[in-house]
Amino acid sequence: MRISENKIEEIRSAANLVDVISEHIQLRKRGKNFIGLCPFHNEKTPSFTVSEEKQIFHCFGCHAGGNVFKFLMDYEKISFVESVQEVAQRCGITLDLEEEPQGEKQSEQEILYDINTEAARYFSNNLLNHPDGEVARKYFQERKVKPQTMRAFGLGYALNGWENFLSFASEKRIDLEKALALGLIGQNKDGKLYDKFSGRIIFPIFSPNGRVVAFAGRVLEKREGTAKYLNSPESSIYVKGRILYGLSHAKDEIRRLDKAILVEGYMDLISLHQSGIKNVVAVSGTALTEEQVQLISRYTKNVVLLFDADTAGIKASMRSIELLLKREIEIKIASLPPGEDPDSYVNNYGREKFEEIIKRAQNFLEYQSEYYEKQGMFEDAAKTAGAIRELVKPVALISDELKRALLIKNISKKFNLREKLLESELDKAIESAGKQITSEERIRDREAAKINNDAREQTIKKATPLLYNMEREIIKLLFEGSSEVVEFISQNIQPEEFVIEFHAKLAWVVYESFSGGGSIVASSLIEKISDADLQSYILELTFEKYEISKSWEELYPGIAREKVLQKAARDTVRKFKLEQVGYKIQANSRLIENEPNEDEKFNLIKLNRDLEFQKRIISEKFSGS
Ligand SMILES: [Zn+2]
Repeated sequence: MRISENKIEEIRSAANLVDVISEHIQLRKRGKNFIGLCPFHNEKTPSFTVSEEKQIFHCFGCHAGGNVFKFLMDYEKISFVESVQEVAQRCGITLDLEEEPQGEKQSEQEILYDINTEAARYFSNNLLNHPDGEVARKYFQERKVKPQTMRAFGLGYALNGWENFLSFASEKRIDLEKALALGLIGQNKDGKLYDKFSGRIIFPIFSPNGRVVAFAGRVLEKREGTAKYLNSPESSIYVKGRILYGLSHAKDEIRRLDKAILVEGYMDLISLHQSGIKNVVAVSGTALTEEQVQLISRYTKNVVLLFDADTAGIKASMRSIELLLKREIEIKIASLPPGEDPDSYVNNYGREKFEEIIKRAQNFLEYQSEYYEKQGMFEDAAKTAGAIRELVKPVALISDELKRALLIKNISKKFNLREKLLESELDKAIESAGKQITSEERIRDREAAKINNDAREQTIKKATPLLYNMEREIIKLLFEGSSEVVEFISQNIQPEEFVIEFHAKLAWVVYESFSGGGSIVASSLIEKISDADLQSYILELTFEKYEISKSWEELYPGIAREKVLQKAARDTVRKFKLEQVGYKIQANSRLIENEPNEDEKFNLIKLNRDLEFQKRIISEKFSGS
């Protein structure tokens, strides 16, 4: 069943989120908002915040958040449609269940999701039911994967041959052009289409919300010249480094236990899940990225690394430590006996033994020092100094001074070293961490001067902190629910003008809804953002301590909120435009200084004069009241 967007809008605006949430948890008023203990993670001091004005909630602890539908979905573990039905019932709105969408156009991304869903169903059916799927069924049986687990993870099989999926796709009238972009089919030199995953077992890769964004295919038998794993290419619904395998299956349990176990492979995660250990995510195929760390940190600040006991696994652990520390995550590292991986270990020894391994996990300093010890780094004084320097390096990444001090004490006790000595090493490490950033900036400047104009523009565009903050301000204004403000901003700033890509995406969501006559209140817009990360970002932005309307109200007491917002919008757009031009002028001036060719120099000077003129025009255009 589908419910029309208008109806959903009607139901959403009839409900009061504060009432709905109050039925389940105790809220009390603080300032403009309500706060309470978060129902989605364990906490003793409230970080769960509800805005009655904006009809959205957000937890600053676990980053759960959204509108009234989202709350009921998460709280009662029900689907979107069920949650809409429940709210409709509360508000006495009748839902015509037969209601069909009135020629609503599916967005491009929705079409891609649908194709992947169809494909996943097809692969799964091959594995579970197709006679030729026997070979894949045998593979999973040997690895002790039960049929219900295959279903839970949507595991599948792409039949041997080059046109099986192709003919399924034509039968289902799947847009082949799009299937090509999604990497489900390939095209050879003669233009002939073929099944890309042929003969592979299939692991669908899910977004945090549980939608199929990509596939990983593993060969059953090693063939000459084929990789063991084949992954979908990146697309508008799949960015490799921003997905953690298994997160949609694990996120509730991660929140509940306030801990995530990070493993390397798909099969590790699946076997653990099957044995009842469900707070697991896998990096699968890539080194851990900053975005993945950010993703985990939305659910917990406690991570146990459990990589394979081989050299590659140890290297991966060491690399991951720095990334996790930068995000203030508590890291433990668990080690398996040599030759085991989580998949084999839990299958051989069972859940309890596995849980002991997790309990015995070491903190990162113990792990690293043991590693250096094994490398023979503590055998003579000169090497020891080097090891100490390496040990102090990750500590420098922790911004909490108290925590740093505790860790330093730890090292000093363990190796019988004077704390003062370690502190001075730490100071050096902190300083060089800072220097690294500035030298990176310098290199970027130099690079920018070398390349051609277009590319230079791109590099220069890589935001200054000031631009970044202004963009945030503009995005915030777009989510304040004022149509005058949205109209004004959309007329003056194109989405592609935003330097930060996700700002462009967010602006685009608002512009599209506005121009289509849709609602532009935050509680409605939030639903149109498909990316969970972006949802969380915008919620945080909306609930930030510093509120645009408030600080402007202080500046202009007695003026209506709407007028205040408009004033803020005009002012911010002007500053943003001026900063854009100003940054170009700066970059140009640097080039002028270093330009040996007189003609070229003259052109640059002329360009700067034009830019200065632009600045004056911008000032005039957006001044006045
Ligand atoms: Zn929470």
